[in-house]
Amino acid sequence: MAKHILLVTIDSLRADFVHCYGSREIRTPNLDAFAASGVRFGHHLSSLATTLPSHCSLLTGCLPSVHGINWNGVETPRRRLTLAEIAAAEGYATTAITSWGGFQKQQVYGFQQAHSEGGAGGDENRGDETILRVEAWLESVDSGRPQLLWVHFIDPHTPDNCPEPFPRTYVGEVEFVDTVVGRLLDGWDARLGAESSFVAITADHGEHLDDHGVERGHGTLWITNAWIPLLFRCPGAIEPGSDVGELTRQIDVLPTILNYCRLPMPYNVQGMSLRGLIEGKDADMRLVHQGQAVRGETDTTTVRTEEHAFFFGDNRNLVHAFDRRSDPREQEDLWATDGRARQSVEHSLRDGREK
Ligand SMILES: [Zn+2]
Repeated sequence: MAKHILLVTIDSLRADFVHCYGSREIRTPNLDAFAASGVRFGHHLSSLATTLPSHCSLLTGCLPSVHGINWNGVETPRRRLTLAEIAAAEGYATTAITSWGGFQKQQVYGFQQAHSEGGAGGDENRGDETILRVEAWLESVDSGRPQLLWVHFIDPHTPDNCPEPFPRTYVGEVEFVDTVVGRLLDGWDARLGAESSFVAITADHGEHLDDHGVERGHGTLWITNAWIPLLFRCPGAIEPGSDVGELTRQIDVLPTILNYCRLPMPYNVQGMSLRGLIEGKDADMRLVHQGQAVRGETDTTTVRTEEHAFFFGDNRNLVHAFDRRSDPREQEDLWATDGRARQSVEHSLRDGREK
């Protein structure tokens, strides 16, 4: 049974820039080996492409409209328990070592011990500095007590400031962060043991790289911001080499961790445990994803199924629709261009609402 929990988040990491997610010429051997040791989720979507609220969805299993954090500067109280608070109530020691001081706006989500300082571009928050903090923590950790550690790496986020010999590009940042993830896993396994741990690796959101009219950055609802990696390892409970192709959601990560680690499930978690999908028992489960984006007075929403993506504007009016089967990159807007397709999408949407 899993005892210790390690959660790793890599900021701004697109799924299709991890080697085991695609055919791109990018080297991520540590993430690839980790995926092979557990389960890879091939179609995993973030709730919101902004760092503070996205991590809040990850750690509460709820959408931003429910947990109440919809932008980076928000300091209002959270309305849901976090993984740290749930685990601490069961006797875990909880620690966060992150690469961005903005998490202090939410008191680092209730972790008992936390390093969370500085800006996204500071060299003190580069992966080679963050990993030193983690390794110092590992040296003194009490392995006799259940430990929850959250490590956040900012590196793929701008600016591109990775060390030599990595090129200072998005690809260079991803290949660099893969090396520090490898160091983290080696150190963790040596000190706390792979066999007695549940380990999750994911991202908070993706990144624009000259797609959908955006040169670089995030915060939108486009698929390049929503599609992120999700990998779990839990020896004895998750078969190595497992692969889940069905649509899964960021809000499902918390209930899945609680399920595998036998921690109590708050009644008001919105997400679902993915354990049945991992074990092949829920193959017909068709989850519906909701994405949210809030910026000032702008409030837009997406609904994604395996077949369609619907974008709703400020007035909750439909503004874009895509056929995800024939157009997985969501380039051909059916709502704007094709009357017959629009009729078909309208019908699908109506069906969806009636169910
Ligand atoms: Zn982020």
